[in-house]
Amino acid sequence: MTQERYIDIPGEVMDIYRSWRPTPLYRALKLEEELKTTAQIYYKYEGTSPAGSHKLNTAVPQAYYNKKAGIKRLTTETGAGQWGSALGIACQFFGLECKVYMVRVSYNQKPYRRSFMEAYGAQVISSPSQETEAGRRVLAEQPDTPGTLGTAISEAVEEAVQCPDTNYSLGSVLNHVLLHQSVVGQEAKAQMEKVGGLPDIVIGCHGGGSNFGGLIAPFVRDKFEGKAMRIIAVEPLSCPTLTNGEYRYDYCDTAGLTPLLKMYTLGHQFTPPGIHAGGLRYHGASPIISSLHNNRVIEAQAYPQTDVFQSAITFARSEGILPAPESAHAIHAAIVEALQARDAGEEKVILFGLSGHGHFDMSAYEDYLAKRLNNC
Ligand SMILES: *Cc1c(COP(=O)(O)O)cnc(C)c1O
Repeated sequence: MTQERYIDIPGEVMDIYRSWRPTPLYRALKLEEELKTTAQIYYKYEGTSPAGSHKLNTAVPQAYYNKKAGIKRLTTETGAGQWGSALGIACQFFGLECKVYMVRVSYNQKPYRRSFMEAYGAQVISSPSQETEAGRRVLAEQPDTPGTLGTAISEAVEEAVQCPDTNYSLGSVLNHVLLHQSVVGQEAKAQMEKVGGLPDIVIGCHGGGSNFGGLIAPFVRDKFEGKAMRIIAVEPLSCPTLTNGEYRYDYCDTAGLTPLLKMYTLGHQFTPPGIHAGGLRYHGASPIISSLHNNRVIEAQAYPQTDVFQSAITFARSEGILPAPESAHAIHAAIVEALQARDAGEEKVILFGLSGHGHFDMSAYEDYLAKRLNNC
């Protein structure tokens, strides 16, 4: 707990951040042209990190603090593979071992993600697995399950609890993760001030809330101080935690091993369909984001994956960056807002978070382009 407004980034973490931070803020001029919008669209791009997403921003300090505490090994879960990749790299930087429970549907959809993690020395297990009590229980009850982040968390936590030199590391949801990710928002705000001032609309995709929370952190303060601003979290229609969940106490994992958090939740037993934005398949949400949503400081929107992929393609063809399917949710909402601004003849300034690139998500693009994606 702290009352401080700023917490300094440790020097050793800063030395690593420096290899890809600050990340670029782009104005999406070609996309604006394509949409014929009166809005200005900016995006903060986190795909330039060695892991290809924002997740390394928290993986590095988490590995650093665990190393300092004498921990030898970290266990974790991963959905699409982004978090496992980031933690694998960070553990390598600090000489820690890393074991990753990867949600089965992604393990099968994304073999290159697996190799990526293994190249950095991580051990990768398909979840649910036979290695833990929690995994064996789910396998016995639902042998064909696509797996969930909730189950993978249970497995990683169970293993960490049993080994004294091992800690469990979570890549989203928790307060310290949002704190680490606030570097994204701090840079974005300084960059926006150089080019045009504060945005009217800030948009981020929402899985557990970390890239969104990090991006919006300094802007929420402006909103509290009276700046008119809409702040929008975007999630998949098939996993509508903020738009359709209940605000109550729930577990972070399926087996109920974690402490209870007050958050929007679809229930810790909820199994989302195996959509391609694996990083957004989470039943819960960050308590900070949940509270902001409950207090109407932020709003939430949910979109079907076919619309999201269509916007991803529009973005790739105009801006040249192939986005992660998760990030494409933010792109889609930004396009919707930009078209509304055009129709109303308004000069809105829109900022969205482009949390990662989609270079490991080619099977998703393949399915979309072959018209094999269902509209949920
Ligand atoms: C993991 C991930 C997300 C979702 O997680 P949050 O904690 O909600 O940010 C979004 N985008 C990318 C690229 C991811 O890897």
